[in-house]
Amino acid sequence: MLASRCRACRIISVVLVFGHIGVSLGTVWALSSAARGANAPAKEGEGARRPWLPWRSLDFRLVVVGSMLPDIIDKPLWLLGAVLSSGRALSHSLVFQALLVALVLIVAWRFRILGLWGLAAGSLLHVIEDEMWREPEAFFWPAYGWAMPEHSADGYAGTLVNALLHNPRVYVPEALGAAILLVFVATVVRRRKVVSLLRYGAM
Ligand SMILES: [Zn+2]
Repeated sequence: MLASRCRACRIISVVLVFGHIGVSLGTVWALSSAARGANAPAKEGEGARRPWLPWRSLDFRLVVVGSMLPDIIDKPLWLLGAVLSSGRALSHSLVFQALLVALVLIVAWRFRILGLWGLAAGSLLHVIEDEMWREPEAFFWPAYGWAMPEHSADGYAGTLVNALLHNPRVYVPEALGAAILLVFVATVVRRRKVVSLLRYGAM
């Protein structure tokens, strides 16, 4: 019975892990590989002039965290604490994304911690993958009013399991993300970059 399931179990079941992590990781991986291969000398020069921008590879560990960050914040506050009225609320808004980019920019500029850009990149990719523009009240909050949209958590886990089995807009990104993750892990192992990835987020 879905109604009798524990709340933590429901959270795990409503978080689409492979789609977000795999697709975000693959996107950043492809972009950083292309950037490094396309015009390395020019990028080095740009890096000297503006060292707070992520000219080199991002921290892949933080890309993974960022790719789940909006759900890590919003969904527990919705399902466990009932603080938020929806699992796609404040952290899924453009305001939050802009604040996160501003925070990362300040920290990168002040302390030269460039790896944090991975967090912002992952979070931005998350809201794109969620197609948040289809939920303008949350995405453009507070342009449509201060109140966030309300979604009932009852039966949500069952709805999601059903979507995973029958809705291609849900199961295709999940399968794609799982495939990308497999290729990423295989590449890291083949290049012997496991330690580098775990310690520095680089590969
Ligand atoms: Zn989300």
